Amino acid sequence: MNLSTPRPVADTAAAPDWDRVRLDFPLLMREVHGKPLVYFDNANTGQKPVQVIGAVDEFYRRYNANVSRAVHALGTEATDAYEGARSKLARFLNVRASELILCSGTTFAINLVAYSWALPRLKAGDVILVSRMEHHANIVPWQLVAQRTGATIRVAEITPEGALDLDALRKAMTPEVKLLAVAHVSNVLGTVNPVREICREARKRGIITVVDGSQAVPHRKVDIANIGCDFYAITGHKMCGPTGTGALWAKREHLDAMPPFLGGGEMIKEVSFEGTVFNDAPHKFEAGTPNIAGFIGLGVAVDYLESLGLEHVEARESELLAHFTEELNKIDGLRIFGTTPDKAAVVSFLIEGAHAHDLATLLDLEGVAIRSGQHCAHPLLQYYGVAATCRASLAFYNTHAEIERFIAALNKVRKLLG
Ligand code: PLP
Repeated sequence: MNLSTPRPVADTAAAPDWDRVRLDFPLLMREVHGKPLVYFDNANTGQKPVQVIGAVDEFYRRYNANVSRAVHALGTEATDAYEGARSKLARFLNVRASELILCSGTTFAINLVAYSWALPRLKAGDVILVSRMEHHANIVPWQLVAQRTGATIRVAEITPEGALDLDALRKAMTPEVKLLAVAHVSNVLGTVNPVREICREARKRGIITVVDGSQAVPHRKVDIANIGCDFYAITGHKMCGPTGTGALWAKREHLDAMPPFLGGGEMIKEVSFEGTVFNDAPHKFEAGTPNIAGFIGLGVAVDYLESLGLEHVEARESELLAHFTEELNKIDGLRIFGTTPDKAAVVSFLIEGAHAHDLATLLDLEGVAIRSGQHCAHPLLQYYGVAATCRASLAFYNTHAEIERFIAALNKVRKLLG
């Protein structure tokens, strides 16, 4: 047992056998309301392969101990596995492990930047530029900072197809803008934003960039070093990992200059009542006992995704998306939100005359799981002038047969709704 040792990466020249891959996900075999489950809510959270479930189980069965504290064997094994997971994740994202803070997810990661980087630096007259298509996790922390510093929020608008309006974005990057917050991939529209170009433009103007990678990392190869941002946030539970795991990558210069966000154990070198010497980053930002089992599971999720090959995952999901979109477009009165050419397998839609929640509730009775509502992106739905949408989001383990079942179920519930 040594989960910190990277497993051999499979030969990624050939695409995996997707039928076999699906068998790694026990939850997908279950029934819901007496029907085989069709799980199309992957943008919300992803399912976990047996390899990840096994790693979490093994931790608690064989070497559960706290990290970075005990000198006993279990403590060493747990610490090695936890730090091994950080190294794997860093390699996966092409960053240094010493610049990767492990945290509970994107929400925590962005709040860390807001409180630790932005709050001490921003002042009245400064502007935080935020795209229209952001998840609330990349809006609300900036509003809280703006309230406390006197900075203001400026919105980078989108086109009706759901792309960022890049000309408008460039024009919005005025000298007052100190920070730009943008999603790599939209959780509602599936739009893949050209974050490398956007960060280059921002860098030219001295604007700090925060990229929300929650919906990108599970679905395509992400090379953070190549993007050239200042901060990049990810969520583990959308990439086959356990809930309560995620990470923030930040440039070393920022990490060294930022004060700790939370105080407590493991983020210190020395404490006395005269003062505390903080640990070096990333540990400076990891106060308290972390989700050790979760991160060990996340490390195995990284192995798993690498063994599939992210290029194969992306190709598989594009193929499923093409089929799905073609079928949806045959349905009268169905409107898709987000029609850009470079798009992840996230499809928000509405059917004329049917309420999104009614559709999702009736689909659930057919064994189909999708999300309905505002997807933590109220400003985006306000732009489209709708109160809610249905969102179906696919992953590599979904199948063409499930798309057919989804369409049959949708046609059935449409008729029920008249
Ligand atoms: N950003 C985006 C684009 C998301 O889709 C999500 C999750 O739905 C988040 C942020 C928040 O992630 P978490 O709740 O894991 O912190």
